[in-house]
Amino acid sequence: MRTITVLGATGSVGASTLDLIEREPGRFRVRALTAQQDVAKLAAAARRTGAAWAVIGDETRLPALREALRGTNVDVAGGREALIDAAAGADWTMAAIVGCAGLEPVMAAVRAGGTVVLANKEPLVSAGELILAAARDSGATLLPADSEHNAIFQCFDFARPERVRRIVLTGSGGPFREWSTERMRVATPEQAVAHPNWSMGAKISVDSATMFNKGLELIEAARLFPVDPERIEIVIHRQSVIHSLVEYVDGSLLAQLGPSDMRVPIAHTLAWPDRMAAPVPPLDLVALGRLDFAAPDEGRFPALRLARDVLRAGGARPAILNAANEVAVAAFLGRRIGFLEIAAIVAETLDRFDPPAPGDLAAVLAVDAEARALAGERVKDCVV
Ligand code: NAD
Ligand code: MG
Repeated sequence: MRTITVLGATGSVGASTLDLIEREPGRFRVRALTAQQDVAKLAAAARRTGAAWAVIGDETRLPALREALRGTNVDVAGGREALIDAAAGADWTMAAIVGCAGLEPVMAAVRAGGTVVLANKEPLVSAGELILAAARDSGATLLPADSEHNAIFQCFDFARPERVRRIVLTGSGGPFREWSTERMRVATPEQAVAHPNWSMGAKISVDSATMFNKGLELIEAARLFPVDPERIEIVIHRQSVIHSLVEYVDGSLLAQLGPSDMRVPIAHTLAWPDRMAAPVPPLDLVALGRLDFAAPDEGRFPALRLARDVLRAGGARPAILNAANEVAVAAFLGRRIGFLEIAAIVAETLDRFDPPAPGDLAAVLAVDAEARALAGERVKDCVV
């Protein structure tokens, strides 16, 4: 039986992962489940799955977690260090924390070896090289759960990367795909999180609206696949049916298609290199009728250009972009800034801060903290 740990078990990806695991109780044994705040949801998941450990990041909630799991065999722990410790040691670990807060837990999982499934894309953006190096050292297997990267992984011929001409990263365009800049200026958090195709956590939903999500995914793809980053192209595909494509030198394009349900890519990583059943209805191509494609608009969505620039520049730039974006998204969700200010704050933070390339995890965390402080100052200057 494979041991499983889910980091961020109470989130959207965490719930999809647990749904698959709970359907095949004889196949998986849950080692640890973690969450930051939601004691009730974490305790319920730990009870249902018979997890060995339940870990809450916010230590002030540990007494409530202990109370909620009284009389069970689930061991409890709380606090940041406990969460990082719990990340190491399972055969298969789902990294589904949101943001760079997942970086240290991801590193702990990767250093311990085993299979580490990355939904949590921000650590790959901020510290991709360090994560890949740690995986080489420990022998850990990294698998992408992000639907686009999982699609590319399924189509990519790793034995002949030089035969790949191009990667086509598809994106729905988000809820504001057709909106003018003037309309986006007054967009509300409710409008931004109402994604047309996917049901996701608040942060990634806002990222989809600004298209920072596609920008982060561009960097994520450049980390995960051995191709020249200039050969990764973004194409808007509003139906989210083709999850991405790999083009070969002979003109063949291989694509992975599927319903827009994260249980499809997660099931791929849970069973890999085998396959397992996922509880999703088959894709009805005839009902679908057509697939549309369009070029992305970098004028209305500056996030795309910013992400391309930081990917080219490398060093600390991607970590700064990510940190500033996290601060700006939280401020937008808290109604402290307008929607267009998200990209403006990211651009200004990048202008104001240009430290040397971080060489280790501590240096990445320091860049992340400093970029957050700068972006936070800029948030304070905004009047909504
Ligand atoms: P979510 O907000 O629904 O869940 C986040 C989880 O992380 C929760 O369990 C929460 O308790 C935990 N968490 C939050 N802050 C934390 C902190 N500071 N320390 C430790 N744990 C913390 O998010 P989500 O939509 O499930 O996304 C998770 C990650 O997966 C993100 O990086 C996102 O970009 C990526 N992703 C999500 C989807 C999706 O469909 N939701 C698709 C692709 C990639
Ligand atoms: Mg994605």
